Amino acid sequence: MIYLDHNATTPVRPEVLDALLPWLREGYGNPNSVYALGQKARAAVERAREQVAALLGAADASEIVFTSGGSESDVLGIGGAAWQAHDESKGLRRKIVSTRIEHDAVRALLTQLRRRGFDAAEAPCGPDGITPAAGFSAMIDEATAVVAVMHANNETGALQPVAEIAAAARARGALVHTDAVQSIGKVAIDVKALGVDLLALSGHKLNAPKGVGALYVRRGVRLAPVVTGHQEKNRRGGTENVAGIVGLGVACELAARELSGAAAHALALRRRLEAGVLSISGARLNGHPEKRLPNTAHFSFPGLDGHHLVVALDLEGVCVSSGPACSSGASTPSHVLSAMGVPPALATGSIRVSVGWGTADADVDGFLAVLPKAVERLRAAAVPS
Ligand code: PLP
Repeated sequence: MIYLDHNATTPVRPEVLDALLPWLREGYGNPNSVYALGQKARAAVERAREQVAALLGAADASEIVFTSGGSESDVLGIGGAAWQAHDESKGLRRKIVSTRIEHDAVRALLTQLRRRGFDAAEAPCGPDGITPAAGFSAMIDEATAVVAVMHANNETGALQPVAEIAAAARARGALVHTDAVQSIGKVAIDVKALGVDLLALSGHKLNAPKGVGALYVRRGVRLAPVVTGHQEKNRRGGTENVAGIVGLGVACELAARELSGAAAHALALRRRLEAGVLSISGARLNGHPEKRLPNTAHFSFPGLDGHHLVVALDLEGVCVSSGPACSSGASTPSHVLSAMGVPPALATGSIRVSVGWGTADADVDGFLAVLPKAVERLRAAAVPS
């Protein structure tokens, strides 16, 4: 099998698995229990908090809140900040400014917040998949509670101007949330340099298990909790997922140590992959050619159905995606490509290829060996004889 869908999910690294398994086997204490078994689990959770904080450049480990994953971190960050600001301002701050290219986790939340009386505006994005900072910033005003801008897009990998937007938001007293689920471990992230108040990340995009994530909450920022309860300093109720949290911590430490080498490796693979794919007649690359995650490439093939291509590649043992993992299976154009102005006929003929930990030159070679034939077969089938 050739796995080229690391933006959908990643394999758990052996180092991560080795670190977390003892916490499922013998270290099963509740970290909130006072006896030794519980306190050992507490120490493991706090160590992981430090590892996550270090990767993000957070001032203090207490700024990290553990959650069940990227979706929950987005909902707690944006929703929690929106309700808190709304209540503290006695309803004066009831606006959220975001982009047209956010992940569905954010878009679904914005739909819900609109129904509950918030004004949720979405800044347009350019044809390169990047949301221009000037247009976004002009939409932020004194009524804005939260600004939500993803760090890198999950489909095209396009990097967004978070620091510029954050500066504009700060000037107007709005809090800034960034969904960095796709960026963590792929590009350097420093919450202080970005100037964000809230940052979401997810374990399973980072070679840790599914069902664990974290939210960075800048010291002093208060959130209305989504899962109420006393854990995580009243910010997120529920007994901590100790094994998952330990795995996330180790994955963050590995990411911090290996970042520059991993990014260079991913970029070299991606460049070779792009050259091969773009030599197929009609193929085009979507998204900014350079301001992009090093591991992500998104292509369109006019006249093809991306979903059919994904199935054809699967039959050859290659895993890629035709859209965000959650909506794969439907050949409707993605909201991201629509926002970029890619015509529907082209957008539906798209695939996303994403490399990651464990991807080797041989995987790219194998993919490039089967892709042109798969495209040719589908094109031939599409033309009535
Ligand atoms: N945000 C982005 C940009 C994502 O790509 C994803 C997952 O695809 C999520 C949020 C949701 O993360 P999780 O699957 O951990 O809930």
